[in-house]
This record gives sequence, C-alpha cells and structure tokens, in this order.
Amino acid sequence: VIEVINVKKSYILGDMEVPILNDINLTVYEGEFLAIMGPSGSGKSTLMNLIGFLDRPTEGKIIIKGLDINELSDKEVARLRGLEIGFVFQTFNLIPRLTALENVELPTYANAREGVDTRKRAKELLNLVGLGDRMHHKPGELSGGQSQRVAIARALINDPAILLADEPTGNLDSRTGCEILNMFTRLNEEGRTIVMITHDPEIAKYADRVVLVKDGIVQSSKE
Ligand code: ATP
Ligand code: MG
Repeated sequence: VIEVINVKKSYILGDMEVPILNDINLTVYEGEFLAIMGPSGSGKSTLMNLIGFLDRPTEGKIIIKGLDINELSDKEVARLRGLEIGFVFQTFNLIPRLTALENVELPTYANAREGVDTRKRAKELLNLVGLGDRMHHKPGELSGGQSQRVAIARALINDPAILLADEPTGNLDSRTGCEILNMFTRLNEEGRTIVMITHDPEIAKYADRVVLVKDGIVQSSKE
C-alpha cells in the first residue's frame, strides 16, 4: 500500500545541501503493522514525513495506494493526506487554544468524509481513547499521555486506511504506552495499515515486522 523507491532526501542549510536519506527502498504491505527503528538523527521522522506526504523527496518515488506523490498537485496531496492518512506526531502538535474535542475535529475542517457526523465521531473517538471526561479541556490542562491520546483520536477522525505514528509512546509512562499499543493492535486487526517509529525494542515487539534506518538506508528487516 506504500512504496518508497530509491528515495533521497537532503535539507538545504544556508548554501549547504545536507543529505539525510541516501537511498531508501521500502514496501509497506496492506494491513501490516510495521515498526521503524534507528539511531537518533538517522532520519526516521524525515522518512515518516515523506510517507505521510508532508514533504516531497529530493529524488525517488513515493507511491501510496497507487498514486505517485511526484505526479500530484499540492491540493491533491492535501486531500489524500486528509482522508487516507492519519498522522501522530512525535510532539503531539495539538492547538493550545482549542479544546480536546475541537483538536480532534480539526482535520475535518479541510477534508471530511461525506455523511459523517464529525462531532459525534470525535466524541466516540475521545471515549475510545479514554478521555470522555476531558473533551472540553485544552492541551495545557492535559497530561502528556492524555495529549498523546487526543493526537491519536485526531489521527483517526477521517477513518484513514493508514496510520503513521512517530514515537507515539515516547513521552508516556510504560502503562499508558502499553494501552496505546494495545489500541494500535486493535486498529491493525480491524484492517488498518500502521507504520510506527520507535527507539524501544519492547515497543517494536508489537509490530509484525521491524526495519532499521541507518546511514541513510534501510539496513535490515526482520519478522
Ligand atoms: P530522533 O530519533 O531523534 O527523533 P530521527 O531519526 O527522527 O531522530 P530526523 O528528525 O529525521 O531524525 O532528523 C534527521 C536529520 O535531519 C537530523 O540531523 C536533523 O538535524 C536534520 N533535519 C531534520 N529536519 C530538518 C529540517 N527541516 N531542516 C534541516 N535539517 C533537518
Ligand atoms: Mg524523530
């Protein structure tokens, strides 16, 4: 469902081009739960941003559900991202002045599935992540784990086929982390494709397959 083919990514810093990803090849199969590991600074978040269509590769192809990002306009990319991909950021990225409920509804302002009562769906999702009693709290009034759960509910609001999560448990205690992982396992069993970045081997055990990003390439892959 996701194909990354000979992808290179460099960032321009001043007049320097800094290569981060040198030659990434990766296929994520439909319905799979994949974990990406690798040292800090190896480019895991950079790769996740590319897979999530948040950024474009310097070279190479990214194909999601048969669509090549290089051949889509910015508008088409935004729509595909809004409806097919849920993204959980390493640093939650909640909007401070909106309540939990409003944060969860946010993606539907730009893209929404037809015939869905978004308010009702947002409430269902907040209940699902155990925050039914925190809907009207703002991020500043929530703990790290609660904020992360709001971010997960937001990622699911448009019922995406693909869920991308960058260190979803990085800021959580191990018990809350476990709850989140059990939720991911359920979402995966329901048929969603999940790609998760983690530095924690214990967390990676929840995935069907683990790949290692190092020195700008996918180094190894094990079941
Ligand atoms: P971590 O495990 O610490 O989250 P990571 O593997 O996710 O690390 P990235 O965030 O992808 O690593 O960063 C890879 C490299 O790219 C780093 O050296 C970082 O400084 C650089 N980098 C990331 N984003 C940008 C940017 N927008 N502009 C310039 N350099 C960047
Ligand atoms: Mg990162």
